[in-house]
Amino acid sequence: LLFMHLTPCVCGATTAPQSRGVHAAAHGLVARYAGPCAACGRERAFEFELDPETPPIDAYGGAQPSRIICPGQFALHSDELAARWPADGALIPAERRTAAREDLVWAIRDLEEVAKFSVDGAVPEAAFTSARGRELYRAQSGRFRAARLAARTEAYRRLVEALRA
Ligand SMILES: [Zn+2]
Repeated sequence: LLFMHLTPCVCGATTAPQSRGVHAAAHGLVARYAGPCAACGRERAFEFELDPETPPIDAYGGAQPSRIICPGQFALHSDELAARWPADGALIPAERRTAAREDLVWAIRDLEEVAKFSVDGAVPEAAFTSARGRELYRAQSGRFRAARLAARTEAYRRLVEALRA
């Protein structure tokens, strides 16, 4: 779903096609999302080979790093979610806290996906395969060191905990 969000229609709409089906292919199961774009009506279709390892419901994927979303894209998506909320949880009104927690939990999961690309304490440049991901790495390669990723993840976890209180 994140891949489809990151791959908008030519009109710019990021809503995934509604209809979903799973079929068997030569190398395993394939999930297909197809249908007209909600904004412009163009037919869109995505096909994803399903990992034989079924990922947990509360994570993006299993133990292996993604083969379709690069670590830079996960990091940018994490930033996008976290940027919706102030760093001081006390500034978030009580009725918005559930939404804030949900965003931050997924921001953490994005960072966990980034960490899966780490080799010897850092995500290597070769792992960045998208244009936006490579751009981010060139600008801020330091944030892809494992220690920095862990520190940021921990900061978000503390914020989630504070929002639970
Ligand atoms: Zn469209």
